[in-house]
Amino acid sequence: MISKGIGRQIVLHYFIVVFMTLLLVEIIFMFAIRTYYYDSVYSHIANHAAMVTDNYNNTNTENTESENLKYYRDILNRFALASTELQVLNRKGDVLITNSSFQPDQPVQTSDLTQALTNNIGKWIGREPGTGELVMAVSSPIQVMGENKYVIRYITSMEPINSKLLNITLLAALVGVVILAVVLLFSMGLANSIVKPINNIRAVSAQLARGKFDVRVKGEYKYELGELASTLNYMAQEIVRGNQIKDDFISSISHELRTPLTGIKGWSETLTSGGFDPEETKIGMQIIAKETDRLIGLVEEMLDFSKLQQNEMKLVIGHVNLKEILQETMLNVWAKAEQKRIKIKLDEHTEKTVMVSGDGNRLKQVFLNLVDNAIKFSTEESWIHLDISVKDEWAVVEVIDSGIGISEEHLRRVKDRFFQVNHQGGGTGLGLAISQQLVELHNGDMEMRSELGVGTTVSVRLPLLDELNKEEDELSVM
Ligand code: ADP
Repeated sequence: MISKGIGRQIVLHYFIVVFMTLLLVEIIFMFAIRTYYYDSVYSHIANHAAMVTDNYNNTNTENTESENLKYYRDILNRFALASTELQVLNRKGDVLITNSSFQPDQPVQTSDLTQALTNNIGKWIGREPGTGELVMAVSSPIQVMGENKYVIRYITSMEPINSKLLNITLLAALVGVVILAVVLLFSMGLANSIVKPINNIRAVSAQLARGKFDVRVKGEYKYELGELASTLNYMAQEIVRGNQIKDDFISSISHELRTPLTGIKGWSETLTSGGFDPEETKIGMQIIAKETDRLIGLVEEMLDFSKLQQNEMKLVIGHVNLKEILQETMLNVWAKAEQKRIKIKLDEHTEKTVMVSGDGNRLKQVFLNLVDNAIKFSTEESWIHLDISVKDEWAVVEVIDSGIGISEEHLRRVKDRFFQVNHQGGGTGLGLAISQQLVELHNGDMEMRSELGVGTTVSVRLPLLDELNKEEDELSVM
């Protein structure tokens, strides 16, 4: 027994469709066979009747009773058909002579007689009144002196044909049952091949829903089911990855928060205990201010990220001179770079003043983050180049460092939120994700190239203001 569900539906649908088709085909087939058999019997008898008519029509004159009897006998002898009764009737339907042992005393009144007298040939299929046997009667008139005087009537039993037809019907039904059984087996196999993987996938998704993310759909499934299984597996893998990223984020953010907080707490306790000279107090206050700035920076980074996620980041759009922005960035990071004796250089590969339309503060935030990363992930006494150039309708800024570089495997993921190659390095792993989204908000794009141990280049493309103006001019002309 197939349990309720898709499997049963498939089997039922197949079964009904094939059953209906078979039934229709068998009905048509049986009808055609019956018509063929009945028609061949009819045409065989009708040919004989026509022969009788051809032989005896108009060849006779009015005869005496005894001459007639001889004449009827002659017909019976010459034109009798095997297992067929042959009668000679008069116009009224009285049986004048028959080759059957049984001589009917009632006149024949079936429709074949009237048809024969009017249409030259008549056919009737029905049950014989006496025996109840199914028969076919074919009648044809014989003319005497141009008038339909007699009718010859062949009567043949249809029972043998009917029993033959019954046998064929039974055989056809048997073939139908065999076909149905094969279809049933086939559809059950098909249903199983669909239901089994679905059940498997369903069981796995139920486990995933319960939080067991280490389960996977096993087995090689084909077509849509295969795709469904691999999508589910991929989803589980992504959930695991997402959870891992979240855990890493929580641990690194806790660490990031704890370091400045420890500094602030330590110095505030020390200062509260008193007895320090003004110089020491100043150093302590400076450290507290610096660590507080670090905390504010962290919180702002997270707030920016959340705004970007919710599409709530508002840009204050104006005309931005990219060179100026980069120079300000360099000034901001100068002290940090100096600590590692890293040389930062700005290279201009264009004579034009590179202007873009955008939010100056947000663009500066992008470049600050990129240069900050370059410093953070470079060894001491290395170099960082900020290249600015124009390519077609784009302003291109490249932040090139000769730092530790990123492996191919990690490069694909560095722009993902919370991703960090090494959690010991500090930070939240949000910088690149925020930068990327900010650049995209300016209709630009950001690309990273890197080689482990050689260095990293981050390329930011922004639409040139000139080009934007040109487009606006063209639009206003139109
Ligand atoms: P964070 O700097 O807070 O870790 P980012 O999103 O800015 O977050 O960077 C993500 C990760 O990408 C960094 O943790 C680092 O591993 C890698 N990365 C970014 N920039 C560089 C670079 N210039 N050189 C080497 N690695 C980098």
